[in-house]
Amino acid sequence: TREFHLARRPHGVPVADDYRLVERELPDPAEGDVLIRNVALSIDPYMRPRMNDVPSYIPPFQIDEPMPGGAVGEVIASHDPRVPEGSMVVHDHGWREHAIARADEVRVIEPGGHPWTYYLGVLGMPGLTAYAGLFDVASFTAGEAVFVSAAGGAVGGLAGQFARLAGASRVVGSAGTQDKVRYAVETLGFDHAFNYKDGKLTKQLAQAFPGGFDVYFDNVGGDHLAAALEVINWYGRMALCGAVSVYTATEVPMIPGRLFRAIGKRLRLQGFIVFDHNHLIPEFETRVGAWLDSGELVYREHVTDGLEQMPSAFAGMLAGDNTGKAVIRLD
Ligand code: NDP
Repeated sequence: TREFHLARRPHGVPVADDYRLVERELPDPAEGDVLIRNVALSIDPYMRPRMNDVPSYIPPFQIDEPMPGGAVGEVIASHDPRVPEGSMVVHDHGWREHAIARADEVRVIEPGGHPWTYYLGVLGMPGLTAYAGLFDVASFTAGEAVFVSAAGGAVGGLAGQFARLAGASRVVGSAGTQDKVRYAVETLGFDHAFNYKDGKLTKQLAQAFPGGFDVYFDNVGGDHLAAALEVINWYGRMALCGAVSVYTATEVPMIPGRLFRAIGKRLRLQGFIVFDHNHLIPEFETRVGAWLDSGELVYREHVTDGLEQMPSAFAGMLAGDNTGKAVIRLD
């Protein structure tokens, strides 16, 4: 079986030599373990900061070790009765074809008629991130106006749609290509979207929201955060979800000078990590499952085939190649 190891710590955008594709014997699961054949792997922006050896909310990837990461797979051997052979499971042993996991580390998927990959996206970690960020962290309520960055991506596309479905007065997204701008409006039902590469961000944002906005769902950080501070309404809330614009920067800019705007405007900015919001899972699954089933919620994936494509697909996602959730499909 094959698995990716981190060969060295990348500088900026990861390149092929930062990884090693290692072939090894398929191990036997011990008591309490399951052996999983992965069918799909998740490609997530947080993996890039996790390649750095810095203190964080999660331990860094280790050199010459298989890299963790979201994955979905079929249990092909089980030494724990709670997870029988044939179960489909979500777990954190990605970047590899087969995984050994403790039975209590995996989540068994109840077949609900959705593609397995949805449990890496809309019905999984990114979906819960969008849900928790909007409703819990930013305290969004019906009638408010919402700005979402990286609107063509997994979390952003969902956060904007959740706001629309929950009665936002206006939802605007930003993205890096014309195709994504069109996708956000025509497919996902955003009221408006703009290409952040097309002109001054603050100006585009102010034009998009003549009456300002109340909630910013921030996936990008940097200039987007600075522009949002300028245009957001008094008593606005910002869910600081991610900062993909700085993940591959070799020099991270200092805190935006415009942060002082938060004082006069009485803003609330809150960073959050999805796994502190697991109490929302039952509500999230019910509500989002219903939106999916009714067709009101649109979900798209950007699928790449083959384990060996993982590094290039990962760099591609960081560069914005993906529309929707980036995943790797294995045979
Ligand atoms: P996406 O599917 O949104 O993919 C990342 C996107 O970021 C790219 O497609 C690209 O789109 C955009 N991007 C890259 N560079 C820049 C830049 N310089 N400026 C603006 N946009 C840029 O990824 P996810 O939906 O999986 O993740 C979105 C964010 O959510 C990330 O910041 C991630 O770290 C965060 N996150 C946070 C979690 C938490 O617990 N706090 C959990 C999960 C995700 P474009 O073409 O528009 O540039």
